[in-house]
Amino acid sequence: MRDWAQKQPHIGFVPTMGALHEGHLSLARTAKRQCAVCVMSIFVNPTQFGPNEDFARYPRNEDRDFELAEQAEVDCVFAPAVEEIYPRRTTFVRLLDVGNEWEGAYRPGHFDGVATVVLKLFNIVRPEMALFGLKDLQQCAVIRRMVEDLDVPVVLSFEETIRDVDGLALSSRNAYLTPEQREVAPELFRIISESAKRIALDQQSVDTTIGIAIQSLADTGFQVDYLAMVDGRTMKQQSEPNEESRIIVAARIGAVRLIDNVAVY
Ligand code: AMP
Repeated sequence: MRDWAQKQPHIGFVPTMGALHEGHLSLARTAKRQCAVCVMSIFVNPTQFGPNEDFARYPRNEDRDFELAEQAEVDCVFAPAVEEIYPRRTTFVRLLDVGNEWEGAYRPGHFDGVATVVLKLFNIVRPEMALFGLKDLQQCAVIRRMVEDLDVPVVLSFEETIRDVDGLALSSRNAYLTPEQREVAPELFRIISESAKRIALDQQSVDTTIGIAIQSLADTGFQVDYLAMVDGRTMKQQSEPNEESRIIVAARIGAVRLIDNVAVY
């Protein structure tokens, strides 16, 4: 029994939509440290995009992705065609609760698509461990809840966000930014980090801090979809911080929508 319990997980799984960057590769390297084998999937999942979203123009570069995955010592890349994953679309996972607000409110059906594809990928790859980035905080909460609710036999690992030197969270969608927008984009992280610090140090009420942050982003040229303090497990808004608190934000510069979040402690 003890041997079994101490055994390294065999397969560590990193699901991605490709256009790989250091955020994805860092997940793969963590998987390699903790598991015998790292499997990465590259699949731009149509069911998690809304009708007016960027599915068709989402950045795709398979040759480069395969090269980067190989350099990160990924053992197996699974890059299925859409018809392979969805020969029919007749059964879905439907999230109640943690997927409703925030991204769920701005992107109806998004998390049902995410949960459905992740469950399908788990059933195909059969990993003992799966790794996700906290950059997509609500996605982590949704997957944790699905795994608990549906008794999915996998251990989840959530890893901190990898950032560029100026603080901008790495994202495949950063490729959409013009050079001018790219210069302003790090303000998103700077402003929510400042808010988190003020709340953690009890320098200002949560409401006041959030209000100032929203105004600062607007002054910088962002259109803010939401900015709030939430419990990162339940995604419920909070007015008093606890050890799970995170400031979450979604904001647009021009046509580019960025999301980010930071821990309050
Ligand atoms: P995506 O390809 O955007 O679906 O992301 C695939 C996985 O990589 C998800 O678990 C993301 O949360 C994670 N990820 C994306 N960007 C980052 C980042 N900057 N740092 C850490 N993980 C990330």
